[in-house]
Amino acid sequence: MQEILDFFRRLGDTSDWPPRWYCGRWTDFHGWLYIISDLTIWLAYMAIPMILIRFIFIKKGVPLAGVFWLFGAFILFCGLTHLIDAAMFWIPAYRINALIRFLTAVVSVATVIALIRYFHEAVGLRTSKEYDRELSYRQLAMQELSRSNQELQQFAYIASHDLQSPLKTITGYLSLLEANHGNHLDEEALRIIGKSTAAADRMRNLINDLLDFSRIGSDVALTQIDLNELMAEILEEQQGEIQATGAVIHLDLLPTIRGHRTDLKQLFQNLLSNALKYRKPDVTPTIAIRATEEKHQYRFSISDNGIGIEQQYFDRVFQIFQRLHGRKEYSGTGIGLATCKKVVDIYGGQIWIDSTVGVGSTFSFTIPKQIRTLHHYTHSDLINNLN
Ligand code: ADP
Repeated sequence: MQEILDFFRRLGDTSDWPPRWYCGRWTDFHGWLYIISDLTIWLAYMAIPMILIRFIFIKKGVPLAGVFWLFGAFILFCGLTHLIDAAMFWIPAYRINALIRFLTAVVSVATVIALIRYFHEAVGLRTSKEYDRELSYRQLAMQELSRSNQELQQFAYIASHDLQSPLKTITGYLSLLEANHGNHLDEEALRIIGKSTAAADRMRNLINDLLDFSRIGSDVALTQIDLNELMAEILEEQQGEIQATGAVIHLDLLPTIRGHRTDLKQLFQNLLSNALKYRKPDVTPTIAIRATEEKHQYRFSISDNGIGIEQQYFDRVFQIFQRLHGRKEYSGTGIGLATCKKVVDIYGGQIWIDSTVGVGSTFSFTIPKQIRTLHHYTHSDLINNLN
């Protein structure tokens, strides 16, 4: 113990040994060969950790960064042993030399342990060749997906479009039948015509809603949308329903956001028309449209004092064709909320419900300030690669 204390007390003391030049018989050539080689090794050992640190800082998120730091420290200490060896030709600091060697030994053992510990993880890391393969696979899958998506969209569009024409013929003939021969028909026949016309109307609504649903996300370019102006247009279009129900609408000042006009219109329109539609009988609908700005996103909510939804259906109502009420109670196609979810999903936001049966519902959703479209990713990847 005394020896150890003495060692540290006299750490910088060089009086016990002669400088290495005077220890044995060195020729100039031999000594300088030793010194220059040691200094060169030291410089190279200094450069390696610098390169590693620069690599870690540039390549943010590099896997196993801890091992990189440890490896850098190990090389740095190895370099110091060579520097001190060269310095010993003039300064016989044998105690400092021993201490540096001891620290080097500790860091070396720690590096070995870390390497063994993370070996399997390192083996699991993908090489750039493996990444390239996966990228090609994903690109192909994406091409395939967008092709089948396009096909599906085209199918939905053509089917909806083509279905509209025979439907128009049916409703046309039905009203012709009623207008020209109504006088000769009995009550039962008129009832059947009425039912057929109503069914044709429902089908038209269904086709139109499906068409809207299939069109969501087809716009590519994002533009600045003044939501106040968009909301004024929606309210104007729903004026008939608002006046008929005497609905009171509280509207916040809304932000201007980046997005696609038709998609955002669908979103606000569907939520507002649901708030009007699912009102309690004999209660004046009161609807509040709120907007709050958060750090990375906008949060919107549309609250009503309507019939409310049971908690067990909070997820189900966002699925296409899922309705909680019969046609006789409330008209509808069951596509509205699925359309809202599709729009919010495309923008990378979230949509959810808070509701109490008999009290009312609040539909909230978020829209990120920076919408991450495919274009955004390709662009930022390009910039990263250039740096
Ligand atoms: P639709 O209104 O055409 O039936 P939606 O997809 O818009 O279809 O809504 C799905 C279901 O969610 C509705 O059938 C209704 O039962 C319920 N719902 C939607 N909005 C509200 C609301 N504001 N209050 C109560 N129930 C609602």
